[in-house]
Amino acid sequence: MAHLETLPRRRGPPPLQQNRARPDEGGRSTRLTLDQSRSRCLNSERTLILGGGISGLACALRLAGAGRKVTLVEGSDRLGGLGAFFEHEGRTFEKFYHCMLPSDGPLLALLDSLGLTPEIYWKPSTFAYAGAGRIFPLNTPLDLLRFAPLPFADRIRVGLTGLWGRLCSDKGLDDLSTVDWLTRLSGRRAFETFWKPMLEAKFGDRHQDVPALWFWTRFNREKGESKGEVKGYIRGGYKRIIERAAERLRELGVEIRLGESIQSADLDENGSPFVITARGREDAARLLITLPWPGLAQVTGPRLRQAAQVPDWGIDFQGVVNHLLFLKRPLTPHYWLATPESQFPFDGVVETSALTDESDRGTGRHVVYLTKYLHRDDPRFAQPAEEIHRPWFAALQRLFPDLAESDVEAAHTFRAPYVEPVYTRGFLKRRPPEVLVPGKVFLATTAQVYPVVTSWNGSVIQAGRTVDAMLL
Ligand SMILES: Cc1cc2nc3c(=O)[nH]c(=O)nc-3n(C[C@H](O)[C@H](O)[C@H](O)COP(=O)(O)OP(=O)(O)OC[C@H]3O[C@@H](n4cnc5c(N)ncnc54)[C@H](O)[C@@H]3O)c2cc1C
Repeated sequence: MAHLETLPRRRGPPPLQQNRARPDEGGRSTRLTLDQSRSRCLNSERTLILGGGISGLACALRLAGAGRKVTLVEGSDRLGGLGAFFEHEGRTFEKFYHCMLPSDGPLLALLDSLGLTPEIYWKPSTFAYAGAGRIFPLNTPLDLLRFAPLPFADRIRVGLTGLWGRLCSDKGLDDLSTVDWLTRLSGRRAFETFWKPMLEAKFGDRHQDVPALWFWTRFNREKGESKGEVKGYIRGGYKRIIERAAERLRELGVEIRLGESIQSADLDENGSPFVITARGREDAARLLITLPWPGLAQVTGPRLRQAAQVPDWGIDFQGVVNHLLFLKRPLTPHYWLATPESQFPFDGVVETSALTDESDRGTGRHVVYLTKYLHRDDPRFAQPAEEIHRPWFAALQRLFPDLAESDVEAAHTFRAPYVEPVYTRGFLKRRPPEVLVPGKVFLATTAQVYPVVTSWNGSVIQAGRTVDAMLL
């Protein structure tokens, strides 16, 4: 009933306020009639959600919860998108490392609505930096003072930069480059030695134009966090979230169709939306598109492209290669070890077993992701897994000389071509809108999440904004 007032005016029932009867006036039977008429009206108005990652799932939960008739179409054979999982020895693991932060309020609220709060657990999380042949923990001011790769004066400047980044306002930072901002705050030498390798690790040679607002958000993501540096995981892994969400959607009457790739999304000559899949053409009252932006740009038909008010169809995306190692021993106590120096073929060693219970990964099993952000045109996207494993493992052994091949239980390589936009200055103005065609085609995708960090939480926030725009 809560969303009754947001129904379309012409075809829906009268606004809630005008019809709400007090219980002593027979309100119960009045509400029943309204619900029935609402359901009849909505059944003829199906929304087709394209994409079954967290954006599609969160949109479907919100829309179906508001009484809309929803069909969700996913191209792969599993829900979950970048949070999808695979099986190993009777357990499931994410293809790409995933965890939650205490500041992920909207995501945590969604999980709570699915009854999953008791399953989430939190563990302290630490960061380290591999430089000058050593591993330096970097979690406290004292750690920074001991950070030998930087001259002492630069350590102070880097520390003050972090402090200022948390105190200053974000005003004007979308139009300023991170390079200029951090160079101004930390000095050229500290920028080149400390910040630049981390920026390059994420965006390669396209780091030059990344807006300072992108970096500022990272400084501030955990600000004011009473739990300190902790990260969260869920018992049973992200599979648990995905399966619980799918179960709730089915309870709400949502039709979920897997393995149906959208080949085209367009408007017909009357301006009504339709999609084309291997099953043929399918009409819908509304489309809600959650595909990654470059994929969406590829399948958008000519009428939709012309009708949609989009500032920039050409937003490019960064991809990622994750080489996952199941090890019989731990590497470090740190969740994240940054390896930005060029001698390493990967940018980070992400030891997710620092955050997870043995019941979720297996007794004595340690889980390490070697991660490298790359554009999808990079040859490493097409390289056989073995050609990734050999040099990457050899580089890992340079960091951990006592690590042996016999410590590896299994290795898997996963690649994602579309992870997040290659941000450029002024990105706020390039961000695609929630409404592509009023009343007909809507968008909830990663390209809109900025300046919030690309994450499940960011996608849940965006899903809320888009569904609100739909229900207006
Ligand atoms: C290495 C890595 C680590 C990460 N770590 C974290 C983390 O720790 N915490 C966190 O919160 N987030 C993390 N993220 C980010 C998070 O995974 C994403 O922000 C989020 O999953 C994006 O969700 P989405 O639904 O918008 O997009 P996606 O997950 O990309 O989902 C899009 C869906 O659309 C489907 N699709 C695409 N094309 C078509 C088509 N033509 N037809 C039909 N379906 C189609 C895809 O199969 C997919 O299921 C990480 C991401 C990566 C890559």
